Amino acid sequence: MTTASRPDAAGVGETDAGSIMSRGTLVIDTEACKGCWLCIDACPPRVLEMTTHTLNSRGYRYPVLLAGCTGCRACSQICPDFVFQVFKYETPVIAPLTMPADEPRP
Ligand code: SF4
Ligand code: SF4
Repeated sequence: MTTASRPDAAGVGETDAGSIMSRGTLVIDTEACKGCWLCIDACPPRVLEMTTHTLNSRGYRYPVLLAGCTGCRACSQICPDFVFQVFKYETPVIAPLTMPADEPRP
């Protein structure tokens, strides 16, 4: 996914072409993930992506977080394996648009 393809969604504030506002963040227990993808579709601003090249020790791809999390907790509510801890920032953070670490991009 390129940044240009990220759909608009409520609660996501793209501040300019190169940065985005995050109202929350996650701790992701990647080893607990079984790669079911439920969280990917559940995230309203579409800021979760599955790894493509990196697997956990059980052989599953797992989600990584891009900038723009709203802290809505939809991912933690839908995940059957309690992979996510969600934290809301007291003050929103403006950060560069990010890319998953294992995803080389143009
Ligand atoms: S809390 Fe989870 S579902 Fe909500 S925006 Fe952040 S990553 Fe997406
Ligand atoms: S919903 Fe939970 S188990 Fe399924 S891919 Fe997302 S983090 Fe992994």
